[in-house]
Amino acid sequence: MRVVFLGPPGVGKGTQASIFCRNNDFRHISTGELLRNALELDGEMGQKIRKFMEAGDLVPDDLMLGMIESALVDEQNGVVFDGFPRTEVQARGLDDLLEKRNERVDRVVLLIADEAEVIRRVLARGRSDDTLETVRHRFEVYDASTAPLIEYYRERGTLREVDGMGAISEIQERIHNALMDDGSANGRSAG
Ligand code: AMP
Repeated sequence: MRVVFLGPPGVGKGTQASIFCRNNDFRHISTGELLRNALELDGEMGQKIRKFMEAGDLVPDDLMLGMIESALVDEQNGVVFDGFPRTEVQARGLDDLLEKRNERVDRVVLLIADEAEVIRRVLARGRSDDTLETVRHRFEVYDASTAPLIEYYRERGTLREVDGMGAISEIQERIHNALMDDGSANGRSAG
């Protein structure tokens, strides 16, 4: 099963994705993490990526799609994409990449939380790109570029809305129910 975790910055995608993957033996692919690792590696590319991230802007689609393509090796178990796709170009690119492998995005978990709570969570993380100004900008970018993916996946019948408020364990249970509700989800890809 291929799953996308969608939602605004700070809604808890990373936390929930890593718990879900640990419990279900899924691979967790976080593009934010991949990018932060890439920053440590090399000069020129690192510098370029850093500029986008520090401004709270999106890293260009072609770079992200290349990164995902090389991250997807021979996956036997399920995969959770966390923080990807973030634009419609990325979503279409992911569909194409998976189609070549005879796979598809089976489910999309949309985590929902109220804005005040989400902003509180982001600022509490204290990451270097988590200044108030950058956070505000990341929300604008989310609304403009990423939120349209809600419709994209709703049209394809894969979207599951999950209440992201409350205790981590409660949210985890809701996610589990949203993903395991038709009995076909045993961690293997369909087809
Ligand atoms: P995250 O850890 O998911 O909050 O991502 C941190 C930053 O990495 C974002 O603010 C973007 O600058 C960049 N980033 C992460 N994932 C993507 C993506 N799929 N497309 C473009 N930029 C991304």
